[in-house]
Amino acid sequence: MPTKDLQQSRAILAETLFGDDALLRLQGESEPDDSIRIRTTLHSDPIAITGITVMCPHCGARRDWLVICDVLGRIFLRCRCAHQWHEPELTRADFNAMVGEGGQKYPSLEALARDTGHDGTLAGAYFPDKAITS
Ligand SMILES: [Zn+2]
Repeated sequence: MPTKDLQQSRAILAETLFGDDALLRLQGESEPDDSIRIRTTLHSDPIAITGITVMCPHCGARRDWLVICDVLGRIFLRCRCAHQWHEPELTRADFNAMVGEGGQKYPSLEALARDTGHDGTLAGAYFPDKAITS
C-alpha cells in the first residue's frame, strides 16, 4: 500500500522535527547568550601566521592553544597560563579550518577554560607531542 507507507514516513518525520525543536529550545533556555555566540576549539599544534609560529608574549608558549571565535568573528588565543589576546591576523575562516567536529557546550568561557586546563592550573605544563617524543 503506497499511500499507507507515505503517511507513516510523514508521521515519523514530524516527530523527529518536533524532537529537534524541543531540544534546541531547551538548550537556548539553559545557556546564557555568550556561550551560544562564542565558539572555541582546542589546538595542540603550533599556529603559524605568515610563516611565523605564534608565541605567547608572556610565557613563551608555542602550542596547546585554546582558540576562541567571538560573535564578530574575532579570534583570540589563550595559552595554558591563561594569557589571552586578540590575534587580528587570524580570521573566522582560519578558525573554521581548525575546529573539529562535535565538542562540548559550556555555560561560560571561564567554565570551558577550567575544564580544558586553560585557566592557569596547568601553567607551563605542555603535553608531550608525539612528533617530538618519538
Ligand atoms: Zn602564556
